[in-house]
Amino acid sequence: MAQIVLQNVTKTFKDEEVVKNLNVTIKDGSFTVLVGPSGCGKSTTLRMIAGLETQTSGDIWIGDQRVNDLPPGKRNIAMVFQNYALYPTMTVKENIEFGLVNKKVLKEERKKLVSEISEIVGLTEYLNKKPQYLSGGQRQRVALARAMVKKPKVFILDEPLSNLDAKLRNQMRTELIQLHKRLGTTFVYVTHDQVEAMSMGDEIIILNKGVIKQVDSPMNIYQDPSNTFTAEFIGTPAMNVVHYEQVCSLLPDFNINAGFVGFRPEHTSIHSTVFDSENSLVIPGEIITRETLGAEVIYQVKTNVGTCNVKSFLTSVERSNKVYMSIPYDDLYFFNKHGE
Ligand code: ADP
Repeated sequence: MAQIVLQNVTKTFKDEEVVKNLNVTIKDGSFTVLVGPSGCGKSTTLRMIAGLETQTSGDIWIGDQRVNDLPPGKRNIAMVFQNYALYPTMTVKENIEFGLVNKKVLKEERKKLVSEISEIVGLTEYLNKKPQYLSGGQRQRVALARAMVKKPKVFILDEPLSNLDAKLRNQMRTELIQLHKRLGTTFVYVTHDQVEAMSMGDEIIILNKGVIKQVDSPMNIYQDPSNTFTAEFIGTPAMNVVHYEQVCSLLPDFNINAGFVGFRPEHTSIHSTVFDSENSLVIPGEIITRETLGAEVIYQVKTNVGTCNVKSFLTSVERSNKVYMSIPYDDLYFFNKHGE
């Protein structure tokens, strides 16, 4: 087990700074998710922690060791990738114990470890099969087992579930969370999928364009996004964010520092007439689409402050195109002119 500390870590490819002065502590034993849009620097950050990429400047600590000059094999980290990277000609057992053979672990000890770990990940009956005869989920378990057998201080997982179908992905998410609880080892998990991040992480690092936008628990990130990027990235659908000046005349007090106002689709209701205007921000609009999720519906409403999402229970308003969105003042978020 170990905490990981990044201090002023920057990575430049040619002339482009793709990771910019990261400062963050990944807590010992946490399930930390690094999330952000494609190309924001997640994999590069992970690869620098693993030692597969060298930072242009800054320090990386794993436990109490500064690992800047330590090769990947010496960092005591195990990695799991989305393409599993299994050896096709080896059986499951051989794949799992490969790292141990290399480390010259004795045969008896290898046997014990493989049996213990294949039991944990539910592979006992597949030990003699080759990867090609396994399902995607089973292959992913082999990749996990191969990482676990090394008893690393840190697990690094780069989009490990993205090749699985939706149902299996959900199942594997639960399995990974349980596995993490059982092992108690630090997990650093990369995904571009905010739903995956929110459902799996106990700590989330949100990255955009190589910069950390927020580090917090999923609950705090949802309830208290510290900037408009986080606000518009998290949630299904994410928060609506409009310019303050477009709605300030509809609000009771003028806030001189405000630049943007946010409101969540699930805190917004729609009505065919003006509703609760003493206590709510009321914005007129027109329904342009309706997506039924089951009991809940997502409406897209076109307004003169932009197109907004509203998530509500099925109502009869959709019959009338003209609607009024109503958001209680207490549910509004305010950000300054820099979006913070
Ligand atoms: P993410 O994992 O968030 O999708 P990456 O860390 O893979 O993002 O990439 C961040 C940026 O760095 C991208 O613009 C990518 O094109 C660039 N990049 C990544 N690896 C290299 C490399 N080896 N050489 C040049 N540019 C790279």
